[in-house]
Amino acid sequence: MHLIDLHSHSTASDGSLSPRELAALGRQAGLKALALTDHDTIAGLEEFLAAGQELGLEVVPGVEISINGDELLGKPASLHVLGLWVDHRHQGLLEGLKTLQEARARRNPQIVQKFNDLGIPLTLEEVAAHAGGQLVGRPHFAQALLQRGIVRDRGEAFGRYLAAGAKAYVPKWRFSPAQGIGLLRAAGGLPVLAHPGMLKLAQFDLESLLRRLMDHGLEGLEALYSEHDTAIRQALTRLAARLGLVVSGGSDFHGRAKPEIRLGLGLGDLRVPATLLAALRQRREKLLPQPPVPGR
Ligand SMILES: [Zn+2]
Ligand SMILES: [Zn+2]
Repeated sequence: MHLIDLHSHSTASDGSLSPRELAALGRQAGLKALALTDHDTIAGLEEFLAAGQELGLEVVPGVEISINGDELLGKPASLHVLGLWVDHRHQGLLEGLKTLQEARARRNPQIVQKFNDLGIPLTLEEVAAHAGGQLVGRPHFAQALLQRGIVRDRGEAFGRYLAAGAKAYVPKWRFSPAQGIGLLRAAGGLPVLAHPGMLKLAQFDLESLLRRLMDHGLEGLEALYSEHDTAIRQALTRLAARLGLVVSGGSDFHGRAKPEIRLGLGLGDLRVPATLLAALRQRREKLLPQPPVPGR
């Protein structure tokens, strides 16, 4: 069976391989197609597309954005949406992602301030040192707390300080479902809900969530995912067919940052057949503005 992988991360977000190294690994693994879907950034896509061309690997330019699911789920929740085949030079998308990054840049100093107010003299430099030049986020705050011996483990760092509602929590600005999905579509991307099984929703709740996201323009469901077991993969594939969503699949490969996940193979048993690619591509082409009929 020919395989594809439509969900992976590079050093442009929180993966450990450069976009070029990732494409090379995809080629080496014998994949028929590979998508790069970094969190909230398309900065790696230029290099990724060039590497795909050089290596003769079909590469799909993508992105993974977080949208605010609080209202749809009635509790604090982030939903991850992939945009496959986004135009990495699209001005609206670049501006939208810049807004997100600026919000993130404002958030980290606010978290530092909260720690300082609690009498814990963390500095942003100290936290950033744990990020190794990548986007700084809460996991790096957890590492800094561990190193200072303030907490015993990551769980305690989140539970006492960093999780939603905890002492040093600062809410993250996110797109609304309509904004986020609209932005991906405007940039030519096919919006796909990532790892729906990780939301741990009952079938009924997932279905009503999907219907509401479809009202906002959702087109696909990542039924095949590393951390979905076989039963979940099958149930999600059936649900997608029933709702008219196109099925996608990917590993969420991060390299050394998540060493148990292998490109194309997930935890070992992931198989995303290359035959899915045609349906995804067709669905995406339907979203593009139709060219005017000549002569009219
Ligand atoms: Zn995700
Ligand atoms: Zn991901």
